[in-house]
Amino acid sequence: TPRIFSGIQPSGGLTLGNYLGALKRFVEKQDEGIETIYCLVDMHAITVWQSPADLRRQTREGAAAFIAAGIDPKRSILFNQSQVSAHAELGWIFNCVARMGWMGRMTQWKDKAGKNSENASLGLFAYPALMAADILAYKATHVPVGEDQKQHLELTRDIAAKFNNDYGVNFFPITEPVIEGAATRVMSLRDGSKKMSKSDPSDQSRINLTDDADAIAAKIRKAKTDPEPLPDTLDGLKDRPEARNLVNIYAALAGLTPAAVVAEHAGAQFGTFKPRLAELAVSVLSPITTEMNRLMADPAEIDRILGEGSARAEAIARPILDEVYDIVGMVRSR
Ligand code: ATP
Ligand code: MG
Repeated sequence: TPRIFSGIQPSGGLTLGNYLGALKRFVEKQDEGIETIYCLVDMHAITVWQSPADLRRQTREGAAAFIAAGIDPKRSILFNQSQVSAHAELGWIFNCVARMGWMGRMTQWKDKAGKNSENASLGLFAYPALMAADILAYKATHVPVGEDQKQHLELTRDIAAKFNNDYGVNFFPITEPVIEGAATRVMSLRDGSKKMSKSDPSDQSRINLTDDADAIAAKIRKAKTDPEPLPDTLDGLKDRPEARNLVNIYAALAGLTPAAVVAEHAGAQFGTFKPRLAELAVSVLSPITTEMNRLMADPAEIDRILGEGSARAEAIARPILDEVYDIVGMVRSR
């Protein structure tokens, strides 16, 4: 039977990219009636510096975003990673399964460590092994993510296969990435070659789920584009990454294909298309923002939900981890 796991880092406020590439899809999977486990991965977040106050606020705000977007903490398991120690424990074992060479080839490592990788945290390098542990601690079969996480999911499959092979077991499933929809890679509003990220230093590069209608409209109005009007087929967007990005965003927000959006707005100038996109974005996001703000007024209730989710997650992961320790040959006598 399928079991879905996915996570988002509380490394900042959630963006439109996180919403369209991940969160919206998480809700769809839940609503299809599949078993769904969703995690605020706070241990991943500290691979780059987070002040304790920011981390706490971002974790609660992230949980509020999940619920506001439609995650029902009764039907899905919603929790934060550090409350379930199985993640860290299995992460260590996977640090001993994964190879340095595999990790060194990860593009996220190269992007985030930058030129000065000597000064990056060891955790940032090991990040994909902990991510494999997040998924495999539940023997999850499917992981909905954005396009940028494809390489990490391939590594998760490699780790599962190597563990199974090294120990001569058929224990971990080979997980399937689920990368679907019109907006699997939302690009920065300032640079069509960079993905939109919550950790981008420029706030103008992204739409935050906490942005109000004026901020959303202003960011879309100032989004980088080219001077050409929209073409009448997708072919005409081939070498126009910024234009293609706005069309993809429109499509994902409207529940249309990019081809349908282009057909509907053929010949429109960006001066016309951008206000239409802003109006659509506000109509989708503002109910979520309003609900997030309502939920954030009661942080104790959010903490209670995360605590309850953590206990339910632990109940699934602990027996799996016990079996792992046994397979590996750890003496367990207490
Ligand atoms: P950070 O900059 O801290 O890495 P992020 O915006 O990349 O933050 P993550 O927490 O790393 O967010 O990723 C959470 C989920 O959102 C993942 O499934 C990821 O693939 C997806 N995602 C992130 N950015 C985008 C994007 N621009 N378009 C579509 N999906 C995205
Ligand atoms: Mg990321």
